[in-house]
Amino acid sequence: MSGQKLQTPKYAMRNGELIAWQDAVLHVGCEAVNRGLSVFEGLKGYWLDDGEFALLDARKHYERLLRSARLLHIPCTCSFDEFETAAISLARELLVPDNDLWIRATLFVVEGHWGENTRADLIMTAYQSDKSIPSSIKVGISTWQRSSDAALSYRIKSAANYQVGRLARIEGRPRNCDEMILLNQWGRVAEATGSAVIMVRNGAVVTPCSTEGALESITVDIAEAIAHSLTLDFSRRPIDRTELLVADEICICGTLNEFVPVAEVDGHKFESAGPVLSAVRERFYDAVRGRCEQPGVTLSRMGN
Ligand code: PMP
Repeated sequence: MSGQKLQTPKYAMRNGELIAWQDAVLHVGCEAVNRGLSVFEGLKGYWLDDGEFALLDARKHYERLLRSARLLHIPCTCSFDEFETAAISLARELLVPDNDLWIRATLFVVEGHWGENTRADLIMTAYQSDKSIPSSIKVGISTWQRSSDAALSYRIKSAANYQVGRLARIEGRPRNCDEMILLNQWGRVAEATGSAVIMVRNGAVVTPCSTEGALESITVDIAEAIAHSLTLDFSRRPIDRTELLVADEICICGTLNEFVPVAEVDGHKFESAGPVLSAVRERFYDAVRGRCEQPGVTLSRMGN
């Protein structure tokens, strides 16, 4: 997870129009730059086994983008059809057969001041994502705290919300951690810096409910649907730090990194290919590659 380089693709998309990468810039005077005011989504597009390309759960990402924007009073006039068409058009320009794509859709506030006359541009960028299945990682528990709903709500996927995650990753580097888990103001598990946390106890799949400080994760919703299909128990409830440390299996999950097994948390070892999360993960890949129909997984096919 460390040492990633920012890719510089040829094109980006601004308000539905294809633009050159170097033209996707913001002025230093706008609130997106001087107050970190933007909300975004990370979507994934997969090559299916039948040779088509498809976006995963695009509507859910669009709806969460709108929720984040609404909470920060950022207007968005883009319809879902326009959003999806823009993402697919950008994908068409940048796709290569060997890679899936990761698409970032951001509403950057480019006009307005202290909430008056706010206007945002919807910019999409897309990056190559190799098709390899992530291997297990070592994580730590950060001393930095997930911000609370009354501070900078975890429910809002805004750029500013990632500053604590950045500090946590910096803290984790000398501890040789690939990723860090943030606790909430009550000292319980909230989420990782860019992913949700899922654990298994006594065969049941458990994840913190969103009110514990976790973004409302689309991948967790997929995990829940898969768990039901596999007749596994799935619950959303508070998880103490020490309960996580005695879990049978742990993984972190999110749109970009999918399901990543956790082999170690601060020196406590876990079975990284545990049976329950391996079964969920296997079904996930079957679903996103179009090998099986999975309730809760919607693929928008690009069409050839
Ligand atoms: N929490 C945070 C802080 C994230 O950035 C992400 C990635 N979007 C997630 C959780 C997982 O959310 P999703 O499954 O919707 O990608």
